[in-house]
Amino acid sequence: MTDVVKCPKCSMENVYFDGTSNVCPDCFYEWSGDETANNTVVKDSNGTELQDGDAVTVIKDLKVKGSSMVI
Ligand SMILES: [Zn+2]
Repeated sequence: MTDVVKCPKCSMENVYFDGTSNVCPDCFYEWSGDETANNTVVKDSNGTELQDGDAVTVIKDLKVKGSSMVI
């Protein structure tokens, strides 16, 4: 990843970090911008299990035997 800091005012890329804040030498704009946000997404695991005893609809397939012999 290329971490290019642009000036929010003049959008120049000559921004250097002063130690405490970002300084744009073009328009002399200073701002403290640390946009590195560590968003930690915590996933919760829902262990939903299907239990026996629920209403199970059993569909029976009717097999049709068709034995037709042609001589
Ligand atoms: Zn600037």
